Amino acid sequence: MVNQLSTQTKAQLKYIDIGVNLTNKRFDKDRTVIIKEAEKNGVVKQIVTGTNLAESKKALQLTKDFPHNLYSTAGCHPHDAKDFQLSDLEELRGLLKDPQVVAVGECGLDFNRNFSPEQDQLRVFEQQLELAVECQKPVFLHERDAFEAQYKLLKKYAPKLNGGVVHCFTGEVEHMQAYLDLGLFIGITGWICDERRGVDLYNNVHLIPSDRLLLETDAPYLLPRDLPKELRAKPKSSRNLPQYLPHIAETIARARDQELVELAERWYSNTEKLFRF
Ligand SMILES: [Zn+2]
Repeated sequence: MVNQLSTQTKAQLKYIDIGVNLTNKRFDKDRTVIIKEAEKNGVVKQIVTGTNLAESKKALQLTKDFPHNLYSTAGCHPHDAKDFQLSDLEELRGLLKDPQVVAVGECGLDFNRNFSPEQDQLRVFEQQLELAVECQKPVFLHERDAFEAQYKLLKKYAPKLNGGVVHCFTGEVEHMQAYLDLGLFIGITGWICDERRGVDLYNNVHLIPSDRLLLETDAPYLLPRDLPKELRAKPKSSRNLPQYLPHIAETIARARDQELVELAERWYSNTEKLFRF
């Protein structure tokens, strides 16, 4: 019975947030406090998302200040594909040699907003898939309104990849199944806490096998819409924080009608397994 867990038991659960944009300027004033608050709330480790070369460098630098709490990814988000140079690829290759950098990404395709032309996105995504095969680190994937093209490329590289996660999955069930069939993990964010946009995700999240499910906030984006007042940091703000991860975890446990304790252990071991901590 998910809801009858004592506060004490809940407080002992340990989580890893696999997607935090900690280099975002919205954390410039209190980054250290945010990392400590997350830890106090059971979020003992975080993977800092790298979205382009400069951010990937910053993310890695940050992990050096918190070597026990932080890991990072190195890659180029599809929005930034138009500015991605061959020399950037070389530098990413260098960053990926660091053991603290645990994945290639955030990479993928976003045809929803097309901040970069589709041709650039496809080129830069494929370059990063090749890089992931070469360094044998998992891919941290982003996809929006680009399933067909994304799937085609992933299918081509899947046999040689060393795993990956479709981060912030919000798509259709058929797409979820196709990604699972490729052997990928599925990352769930506080999108599932949104009673308007997240209903399908809430209803379908039980279809993901326990050993393929990962947990993330995508902070400072995607503040869970139903976050209780008493959990909310002061002063009140629209900023999402890694310390809210346990709230998302409880929502997922409820949606799956599964024990939170069991799920929390699963998430922890799934994360260690995929990113080889
Ligand atoms: Zn993303």
